[in-house]
Amino acid sequence: MIDTIAAIATPPGRGGIGIVKISGSRSLDIVSKIFGKTKKGPDPCSLFESHRVVHGYIFDTGTGLVIDEVLIVPMLAPRSYTNENVVEIQAHSGNLVMGVILENVIQAGARLAEPGEFTKRAFLNGRIDLTQAEAVADIINARSIDALKSAAFQNLGNFKSIIEEARMKLINLLSLIEVSVDFPGEADDVIPQAQGMETIKNVLLVCRRAVKLYEDAHFLRDGIKLVICGAPNVGKSSLMNRLLEKERSIVTSLPGTTRDLIEEPLNINGIPFLISDTAGMHNTDDLIEKIGIEKAKKKIKDSDIILFMKEMGSSISENEVNSLIPIGKKIIFVMNKIDLKKDAPALPEKFKDIPVVKISALCNRGIDLLRETITGLLVKNLETTCLVVPNLRHKLALDRAVKSLESAEQGFLNKTDEILLSIDVRNSADCLGEITGDTAGIDILDNIFKNFCMGK
Ligand code: GDP
Repeated sequence: MIDTIAAIATPPGRGGIGIVKISGSRSLDIVSKIFGKTKKGPDPCSLFESHRVVHGYIFDTGTGLVIDEVLIVPMLAPRSYTNENVVEIQAHSGNLVMGVILENVIQAGARLAEPGEFTKRAFLNGRIDLTQAEAVADIINARSIDALKSAAFQNLGNFKSIIEEARMKLINLLSLIEVSVDFPGEADDVIPQAQGMETIKNVLLVCRRAVKLYEDAHFLRDGIKLVICGAPNVGKSSLMNRLLEKERSIVTSLPGTTRDLIEEPLNINGIPFLISDTAGMHNTDDLIEKIGIEKAKKKIKDSDIILFMKEMGSSISENEVNSLIPIGKKIIFVMNKIDLKKDAPALPEKFKDIPVVKISALCNRGIDLLRETITGLLVKNLETTCLVVPNLRHKLALDRAVKSLESAEQGFLNKTDEILLSIDVRNSADCLGEITGDTAGIDILDNIFKNFCMGK
């Protein structure tokens, strides 16, 4: 028999109400051993009616004494979060009382749930797919209203239906191809090239759209990694403090003050960022500075937007930018110390499309324009109300699906052998199945659910 699991579903600490959640076929038996409607002692479970709140008391299995006055909410299978018999015990919230109730539930026969195990059961019992399970975690972790809206929309199953529909088209196509392999004489009648091409093109469109959406809008969920880099003393730490509106980085006139990475969350117009101040880039023999510079280089590679800082009056060479910043990264040239010098920077022709913002971090000039320029680099007027933004896991699976679909498209064009065609179509269908969980391996599932909080 599958274990009945239990966990505290509410956050630790003191509060009005705390919930212990139990899920599994033995939930009602377990609760009946420790719950009673009167102060006399536990009642038999047969009195529980699904989705009807019951008032009563939790008794200690050892002493028989009342632990707390509670409300019980039984939700019988399949009408529950996990599709199993679920009972919630709503008690007073305090670390001790919650712990003692949970201990008694375990004494009565439940096992402590692992992080995410309730949602994992909802998935394994077919109530939700993997994209909906991930959306539950996204709702809990949302750091902006747009991230929350997008996660809520995904939780309703909107991404699931798009992916499932595309996958079904591929599976239908696959069965036609396999028939033509089994009955080679009738191949041309069974699977006309035009029909195969159309299906592949349709699904490719869906996948490419989703990948584009990830690229344009994943910041809604993940936040944007913003890094400030440049030579020592150009004003990186001063800018970091200005953007954060607090003295986070140490500012001195001594070069090499910031030796390690400094990272802080930042919010610009409701968009979540993670901003990093880095060690100044220059040739040095100082071991600690060298390590700091290596870390800075790694950070730049890993960032979404780079604020490349220089002092007014200096020029920017192709070499210094190319040696530091990978091609395709979003860059803003930030020219600091306009209070000291007025000369416009000399820019190589190649960089003419990169925005240049002149500021004085010291005198707080140009900082609002810099904020606007940063948000302007993100996709404008993104309609976020009904938008499901794929996560990185989905995007990587979609990339693989696109590769196999492109290969299948070529295969149809070149009238390739059906067996090879079927391999490409099956691969792409499997990639899509990985997204919804239909073809996801145990390692993928473990990885997703281990990142959930306890009790969810
Ligand atoms: P970092 O090494 O690039 O992080 O530079 P800091 O932020 O530590 O600044 C180095 C020095 O430049 C400090 O003395 C700052 O006060 C000064 N500084 C920073 N921004 C400005 C500015 O806009 N104008 C002037 N005049 N000085 C600045």
